[in-house]
Amino acid sequence: MNRITTLHCLTSVFALAALPLSAGPVEAINLDAANANIEVRRLRDNVSVLMGSGGNIAVLVEPDGTLMVDSGIAVSEPKIRAALEGLGSTSLKYVIDTHYHWDHTDGNAWLHSAGATILAHPNTLKHLSEPTTVPEWNHTFPAFASGARPTVLVRDHKTLKLGPERITIQSVGLSHTDSDLFVRFENADVVALGDVFWNGMFPFIDTTNGGHRGRHGPDHHRSGAWPTRHSFRSRRLPRHAHGRARQRATTQE
Ligand SMILES: [Zn+2]
Repeated sequence: MNRITTLHCLTSVFALAALPLSAGPVEAINLDAANANIEVRRLRDNVSVLMGSGGNIAVLVEPDGTLMVDSGIAVSEPKIRAALEGLGSTSLKYVIDTHYHWDHTDGNAWLHSAGATILAHPNTLKHLSEPTTVPEWNHTFPAFASGARPTVLVRDHKTLKLGPERITIQSVGLSHTDSDLFVRFENADVVALGDVFWNGMFPFIDTTNGGHRGRHGPDHHRSGAWPTRHSFRSRRLPRHAHGRARQRATTQE
């Protein structure tokens, strides 16, 4: 199943019926997000996941501030604001873009305006600073306004501290795109994998924009879309971007 098919599968019949025949998966996903409710699931400690706005969004809420992994679809802003308030969030501090795709970065603008510093790989900044075409989606994304672009760049790895939680950010190398990061919440024992792992299917590889299926095979730490190896090596509870959050025990094969 390719990415386009997957996106359509994730889109409601209502959303597709409301679209013109020329619309592609990006338009369908945006319309679906506009109609969807945001489901909140608490994972462990103060880490939760928000589902219903493009890729899943991991959230860490601490008295010192809130950290989000990915920013979802912009049209979901009111519902995501309400979900954050429901989790006790009082101030936004960080947003980490796992990669440049719009279903993970479209909310950057409002979140930056609300006070968040945006972190991402340098190639995410590159793609968001110029028009970028994904042929498989028949779509060209315009450059983001300067305020919606990341200002803290993570080329290899970085560690943050928020309240008692230690957050590590690690570059995956060439995989789903050329800009993928994954994020570990060390104390909560949760890892947010972005789009390098999809629940039940091999991820779409955005080769036009630097993605690579993996030059060194699934056991090589720095290449390819094989992050489940990271997950069970590090004994973490994975939180991937598309599909339901998975327990470690169901991700080990
Ligand atoms: Zn993606």
